[in-house]
Amino acid sequence: MWGFKRFLRRRFPWEVGPTTEPRSASGVDVVMEVTQITCAEVQGRMVADPATVLLDVRESGEWELGHIPGARHLPRSEIPGRVAEMIPDRATAIICYCAHGVRSARAVETLHGLGYHQVTHMAGGFVAWEDAQLPTVATAVLSDEERVRYQRHITLPHVGATGQVRLRQARVLLVGAGGLGSPAALYLAAAGVGTLGIVDHDIVDPSNLQRQILHTTERIGAAKIESAQVTLRGLNPLVTIEPHHVRVTQKNAQSLCETYDIILDGSDNFPTRYLLNECAVTLRKPMVHGSVYRFEGQVTVFWPGRGPCYRCLYREAPPPAMAPSCAEAGVLGVLPGVIGLLQAVETIKLILACGESLVGRLICYEALQARFHELQVPRDPACPTCKGLLQERSGDRCSPPATIRGRSPR
Ligand SMILES: [Zn+2]
Repeated sequence: MWGFKRFLRRRFPWEVGPTTEPRSASGVDVVMEVTQITCAEVQGRMVADPATVLLDVRESGEWELGHIPGARHLPRSEIPGRVAEMIPDRATAIICYCAHGVRSARAVETLHGLGYHQVTHMAGGFVAWEDAQLPTVATAVLSDEERVRYQRHITLPHVGATGQVRLRQARVLLVGAGGLGSPAALYLAAAGVGTLGIVDHDIVDPSNLQRQILHTTERIGAAKIESAQVTLRGLNPLVTIEPHHVRVTQKNAQSLCETYDIILDGSDNFPTRYLLNECAVTLRKPMVHGSVYRFEGQVTVFWPGRGPCYRCLYREAPPPAMAPSCAEAGVLGVLPGVIGLLQAVETIKLILACGESLVGRLICYEALQARFHELQVPRDPACPTCKGLLQERSGDRCSPPATIRGRSPR
């Protein structure tokens, strides 16, 4: 158990490890260029010189989940604009820290450039501080309403109040408010995923209601995103729904995806899947994929740089005659429910950084045989979409998106 908790702490939602950090113009990793001190030395300096400013340069969400007592908070991107007001005396001793010691090294450079000359940073960042079992304090809190609503999560190992805050801070884009998107959206909203973007250009048709359980008979003819909003707000008014009443196109796909942490692909056609895949690779965002055909369904997670992408799995779309739509081929109404809920489970695991993800594994469900089976999906080294990406790390464990909330270290 201890090992698992340690793993969770290490995979902090907004942090990118040094291996993925861009390097300085000189090509030399900035971590190596600035002086750093250990956690124990930080403690010693804070006692010896109480005027020293301990500056947390992480983002607000990270600060709220836990920080060092006595620290002051100034996100790295806001240093140039706000530091003079916060610390007027440029001779002040400052110790910066972030999660792992990457962003804080850059903060030291920024502060040096602004004339602060007694600046250093803490090696290993907040993760090292926690590992040393030094005191921390958290300000992220759940409201009384949230504590009641999510009580079964809060008592659950691997979630707890901290996990619930992570869910609240997450942004998930659901592409399609149809058969897969309906169950996924309902459970993600119920679970308290804070922001759900929903893309769908269609209107509710009577033939949708056999499986698209976000919609109702009274709302036939209404836009699906409007119908979805009514249902989801009724289920959980604490969740923000961001409707996108558009068709996903080459022009808008990237702008739709870029402000979200995770893409949940509930689309029903190959052009949209390949388009989303390209966006996911470009933006390096995880995409939780699901598809259904008659009595069979598939689910997996594509995480660019950590596993295969959609085009590694399916190099080309089949000819239309080989891939009839649900309208043409029919689909068992409950089947997208099963697959969409597996997508919701994988999405929540990614946000919470727990368990083993489906990166590199494809689960196939055969309803008639009542059988699940699993296929290993390797990366295709010749994949035209993702071959240029370096393998960041093994994809067999869940870890939060590096770009969660678009906050990759700048
Ligand atoms: Zn690929």
